[in-house]
Amino acid sequence: MSRFLSSRFSGKKGYQFGERPKDREYIKLNSNESPFPPSGRVIAAVTDERLREQNLYADPCNAELCGAAAEYYGVMPEQVLADSGSDVLLSYCLLAYGSGNEGFRFPDITYTFYKTTCQAYDVNFTEVPLREDFTIRWEDYVSCGSGVLIANPNAPTGFVLSPEQIERIVSSNPDHVVIIDEAYVDFGNRSSIPLLKKYDNLIVIQTMSKSRSLAGARIGFAFSSPEIIGDLSMLRAAFNPDSMSILSQAIGCAAIRDDEYLRRCTEQVIRTREDFRAALLKRGFEVLKSNGNFLLARTPRMPAARLYRELKKNGVLVRYFDQPRVRDYIRISIGTDRQMKEVLDRLGRILEQSDEAETGDARSPQPCGGLS
Ligand code: PMP
Repeated sequence: MSRFLSSRFSGKKGYQFGERPKDREYIKLNSNESPFPPSGRVIAAVTDERLREQNLYADPCNAELCGAAAEYYGVMPEQVLADSGSDVLLSYCLLAYGSGNEGFRFPDITYTFYKTTCQAYDVNFTEVPLREDFTIRWEDYVSCGSGVLIANPNAPTGFVLSPEQIERIVSSNPDHVVIIDEAYVDFGNRSSIPLLKKYDNLIVIQTMSKSRSLAGARIGFAFSSPEIIGDLSMLRAAFNPDSMSILSQAIGCAAIRDDEYLRRCTEQVIRTREDFRAALLKRGFEVLKSNGNFLLARTPRMPAARLYRELKKNGVLVRYFDQPRVRDYIRISIGTDRQMKEVLDRLGRILEQSDEAETGDARSPQPCGGLS
């Protein structure tokens, strides 16, 4: 920290993102990225002409991209704001509707960016405990007297609320905004966007980073009432009005128009997730039933922190959260079938070696051929 930092930021910590070491090749399953490349239509959109236009600012309103997203989701273009990833849109929302008032409530176990961003901006927040089984007690957010922020599906647990439960939360808090972060909605879940027809206090946040294989391109959306989109556009103009390049706008338009590729990729991720979950269960892991592109799992055979370190030593990066309630678990993003088979093999070897070291008894190795 420098001696110039304003006192309001002193001692604050930013969001701890998934590590990206370069010392060797890893199977990288720690940031919930897509294991698949972007769609062919996206690659084709990166033309020489677009590259030659890099000397120019893009349309700051992202009109074509917002129009394409509006058409896809059946809302008006004035109900959409695009920016460079959904994190920044979440920040605008927390600042716009949280600072200087009741702030927000969100689950105690959720995307840690919410808490670190509230702390950075001095936004009041309440962490609402999940149930013992990590499901969200949606009643805790009904008529709650503050803003609400829920990842649906939640991360890193993967549990979902139904649109009906979300509607109860939105309708019972007419004087506060309810933000639903749908980063993982495409992995077999229902979006809350249709509720925008009935409620002016709902904000739905989406990203192209996960299901559309575009984490590097940085494209996210906020969907809400035209008035709320106006507020967020004002904040965006104060931070980085030209945050989206001509390239990222072209890439985003191409991606949103390739529904077929989205469907193929997400169906594959869901199949692999279920196969991998079954394989972990068979090996004695406890694994939460996830609706995202990741699984939260633990094994009685090794503490999670050690398992994370052993996997890293063996070339597999997963996520370990050293925080209450989840420090027994690791979160594993879903890669390709081949990657997940490899992870199972390496997991099997790590656990066998550790069992042998503990008992001094050499057991016959478990075959780890298929996914299940
Ligand atoms: N919301 C959730 C729940 C996430 O896990 C992530 C990715 N870490 C984001 C939002 C942000 O995604 P991006 O900024 O890449 O759009």
